Amino acid sequence: MKIQFLGAAGEVTGSRHSVQANVGGREVRFMVDFGMFQGGREATTKNLEPLPFPPKEIDFIVLTHAHIDHSGLLPRLCAQGFSGPIYCTDATFELLKILLPDSAHLQRSDVERAERRQKAGKWRGDLPVALYSMEEAELALGQCEVLAYGKHLELCKGIDLEFQNAGHILGSAIAVIDITEDHAKKKRCVFSGDIGMKGKLLMPDPARIPQADVVVVESTYGDRLHKTLADTEAELIEVVTSTLSAHGNIVIPAFAVGRTQEMLFLLIDLVKRNLLPHLSIWVDSPMATAATHLTQRFFAQLDKESQSTFEWFKKNPGAVDLRFIADVEESKALNKIKGGAIIISASGMCDAGRIVHHLQNNLPRAQNAIVITGFQAYGSLGRRLVDKVAKVRLFGEEVPVRASVHTIGGLSAHADQAGLLDWLQGFESAPKTVFVVHGEPEASAVLAQSIRDELEWKNVIIPERLHTYSC
Ligand code: ZN
Repeated sequence: MKIQFLGAAGEVTGSRHSVQANVGGREVRFMVDFGMFQGGREATTKNLEPLPFPPKEIDFIVLTHAHIDHSGLLPRLCAQGFSGPIYCTDATFELLKILLPDSAHLQRSDVERAERRQKAGKWRGDLPVALYSMEEAELALGQCEVLAYGKHLELCKGIDLEFQNAGHILGSAIAVIDITEDHAKKKRCVFSGDIGMKGKLLMPDPARIPQADVVVVESTYGDRLHKTLADTEAELIEVVTSTLSAHGNIVIPAFAVGRTQEMLFLLIDLVKRNLLPHLSIWVDSPMATAATHLTQRFFAQLDKESQSTFEWFKKNPGAVDLRFIADVEESKALNKIKGGAIIISASGMCDAGRIVHHLQNNLPRAQNAIVITGFQAYGSLGRRLVDKVAKVRLFGEEVPVRASVHTIGGLSAHADQAGLLDWLQGFESAPKTVFVVHGEPEASAVLAQSIRDELEWKNVIIPERLHTYSC
């Protein structure tokens, strides 16, 4: 059996691992994930790079979860000739129906904006390229096949798949793949996908797998420890209470899928526990609204505590005034509210979407608060706010930053170093090989070393991109 790492090797994005095995008298090739590289020009080059083998030679794809850095190039692959099934969980499939067409739409608008600027003589250099169209996104959705957590499926003779909950986002899975090559013993390969934090809001703890021969584990925060949830709650209570008593608004930029639902859950839970007063919350992002409805639909897949909080809210709907904004007019009407509102909107890094309007409206007043809850990439508007700039330029206008800006940590969707080591300890004996992927070089190196030191596992490899490893 061979594994070739085509992405998320030495970096966080672009997860796609190719597996080849001799089963049933032939060589089968499949991929685990087929994600997009994100961030900067180098990512664009890698997204356009052809695969080292023809797409039509791939028999099937196992998809761990819906995040674009794991799923985002599927439409391009299908357009280039991959016609096999894409196996994923039911909730992942529903999220893909939102995320893939949205990704196609964003790429199209980037190209159109650049073309307009080029016509006006304001664009230098190459134009951006759309990696796929809306139709190609639909094509990929048509190839998805759903497999429930804990159910076994024979993908072909000699290869079986089971998904276990990874506790990262709705639908996220650890892929447990049993491969019995011709004339060889069965080998179990476990692909962690992205692993959630134990005790994380909404999601159950990542499932522990007792045995594996080969483990491919993520390392996004392999060199870090997160703040505790109790600290996060205390910070949030402080900001919300003081802002509301000063008659200000609280604006929370949040990723539409995942973080928005976590914030809603956390705020409702704090009201339930009498740690916050009655709240008025507006969710202003069509994608966040769709993702919140999906979370409710897959209620049974949430952790037990979150289920009980939602049950409580159903019985006490008056405790929180929760409204989802449908159209742009309603969104504009929010500008009239001068105090007492909590507005959750996307994008999470403040660079696009309706959040920009809410910032334009709320940044100039000192009694308002901006609560940053997620990672802010260098160069984003969110990052500049975190770095406490005095003014920002929005829609060609200078806007003073008088509102207070608070960064609330501890809501990461990924396990930290202790969480990853804890998950790995679920294996009752050392796997023959561990591959550490999906991390910046420093994070992967620190995690690999702590696996060797603390778990005393010997064969821990940080794979290089495009290299093939026999195992
Ligand atoms: Zn993810």
